[in-house]
Amino acid sequence: MATIRLSDITITRGDLPGHGRRFAIHNLTLTIPHGKTVVILGPSGCGKSTLLRVIAGLEAPDGGRVLFNGRDVAGISPGERKIGYLFQSYALYPHFDVKRNITSYFFFRRKTPEMTRLREEKFKRTSELLDVAMAYLLDRMPANLSGGEKQRVALGRCITREPELFLLDEPFSNLDAKLRNTYRQHLKTLLREFSITTVYVTHDQQEAVLLADLIAVMRLESSESRSVGSVEQIGTVRELYDHPGNTFVADFLNLHGDVPAISFIEGGAIAPELDGYTIGVRPEDVAIGGDAPGAGVRAIVGEIKEDPLRQYRIVAFKIGPHTLTAKLLPGTTCAPGEPVELRFRNYHVFDRPSGEIAARTEAIRKALG
Ligand code: ADP
Ligand code: MG
Repeated sequence: MATIRLSDITITRGDLPGHGRRFAIHNLTLTIPHGKTVVILGPSGCGKSTLLRVIAGLEAPDGGRVLFNGRDVAGISPGERKIGYLFQSYALYPHFDVKRNITSYFFFRRKTPEMTRLREEKFKRTSELLDVAMAYLLDRMPANLSGGEKQRVALGRCITREPELFLLDEPFSNLDAKLRNTYRQHLKTLLREFSITTVYVTHDQQEAVLLADLIAVMRLESSESRSVGSVEQIGTVRELYDHPGNTFVADFLNLHGDVPAISFIEGGAIAPELDGYTIGVRPEDVAIGGDAPGAGVRAIVGEIKEDPLRQYRIVAFKIGPHTLTAKLLPGTTCAPGEPVELRFRNYHVFDRPSGEIAARTEAIRKALG
């Protein structure tokens, strides 16, 4: 079992044909706690695969250290790091059948009765976990497997090896949506059962929310000549949603799907004392009138939509030049064009222009409750 720490990692890459502009990661620090699944979530090109490669030892950082249980692993080869690594593309031994691929770890060990027993036991448990439908695959060669089947075998092989650390790089992104869902569920069960420290890379929010104990949100900032990847915040889904550290995280993690995760309003459009701040409001935190404290925020009702199940109404309010999207309970009545006073059950205050979270001062409380 391992706690992994990336400490002050810096990576710089020059222009390479086919890889676009220069890319860098500066002073990245991240802890992956023992036994937890940390999902690195970020857009394509932000450096997710690069970080996995650095943890695995396939790539050396230009600065900083990688620590396994507090020990610098700079001199330790990838093979010695006790890692199960699963890529987007399936790397199976083409000349071994499925069963041998799954138990290849034992194949390369000395053969004793004890090892054979262990191998059979491991194999049985792994196939159970991977799904009922493993038996029919066992004698096949990788060339005769579908993408989904190959990835199932690759996953099985990772588990049988008993790695101290699992590194999974968008392993299901080549599968169709239905299969992807099934595999995510299986993987979730597996990770829970084995409590192996895991780093899972994806650009898919749903996947991140399902699998993660902790999500590390990454960002990519690009200028004409270069792009820079960074980890903005790490926390449970709840922590990231309830306490985003900046406007990027607040907006990026969207648990709704049908509406924006948060609406941003320039403070000055609400009250003069809020000038210099950006106020962020989640769609479920808006109410019309009501008895929440605070002075109420003047708004004009804009477009109104019912959600398909009629569980709430999606209402766009205008506050000065800004739009605030809200999910209101079905009973709430309002009509387009009508002026209303809004109350916020909760809201987030960010500094402008940095976008970093700001303390709630007395003046802010007075204005917003
Ligand atoms: P992600 O996995 O988040 O999509 P990567 O870690 O693969 O991102 O890549 C990060 C950046 O580094 C990208 O801008 C990519 O173009 C660049 N890059 C990736 N691999 C190489 C390489 N071998 N040489 C130079 N640049 C690379
Ligand atoms: Mg990648």
